[in-house]
Amino acid sequence: MVSLTNIHKSYITGHNRLHVLKGIDMHIEKGELVSIMGSSGSGKSTLLNILGMLDNYDKGKYILGGKHIINMTETTAARYRNKMVGFVFQSFNLISFKTALENVALPLYYKGISRRKRNVIAMEYLDKVGLRDWATHLPSELSGGQKQRIAIARALISDPQLILADEPTGALDTQTSYEVMELLKQINNEGKTILIVTHENDISKMTRRIIRLKDGRIEKEEYIEAQTV
Ligand code: ADP
Ligand code: MG
Repeated sequence: MVSLTNIHKSYITGHNRLHVLKGIDMHIEKGELVSIMGSSGSGKSTLLNILGMLDNYDKGKYILGGKHIINMTETTAARYRNKMVGFVFQSFNLISFKTALENVALPLYYKGISRRKRNVIAMEYLDKVGLRDWATHLPSELSGGQKQRIAIARALISDPQLILADEPTGALDTQTSYEVMELLKQINNEGKTILIVTHENDISKMTRRIIRLKDGRIEKEEYIEAQTV
């Protein structure tokens, strides 16, 4: 599903060059649930942005869903991204003046699907994340956990093959974090490949594989034994 070989990435600001990713090799199979850990500034978000085709890399090779991700025009990249990848962020990134239902339905708007059809499908996804009764509420009327469920429903609605979550529990209390992780695990059990960036040990232990980043390199990888629940 995802294959990174010797990926390098630098940021250039003024006369300074900051070498952030220094040769990342990473392979993720379809259906995996993986976490990326590392201290602040270790390059986690940079890596996720490359994986999500939101940013380019300087050197190496990236294959996503069998396609070599290189030299794509913005339009081609956007089309492939919308089809392949769903994003979940720490700060939810919901549109404040749109209802829960409208937020979830938004990706379908960009696909040109009619309002009626969008709303029917969005309601199914709201139901899936347990928020059917909150369809007409605005984000300001929802708790953090509910907002993240809305964001997850929005990420799922275009049926992407890969979900990328950047610190999805970073703004939530412990109990709510675990509930959101349970939802992500359930979605993974249904076949979605999920990659979660976190700096919380207990969150990473709820995934099946932990990749540790340090100073732009993969320091260590470990597999977590399947939990019997
Ligand atoms: P993490 O998500 O692990 O905290 P990031 O990938 O966000 O780390 O950042 C890695 C390093 O790259 C940091 O030193 C950060 O300041 C720098 N950085 C991130 N984005 C940019 C950018 N757009 N321009 C310049 N430097 C950046
Ligand atoms: Mg980050």
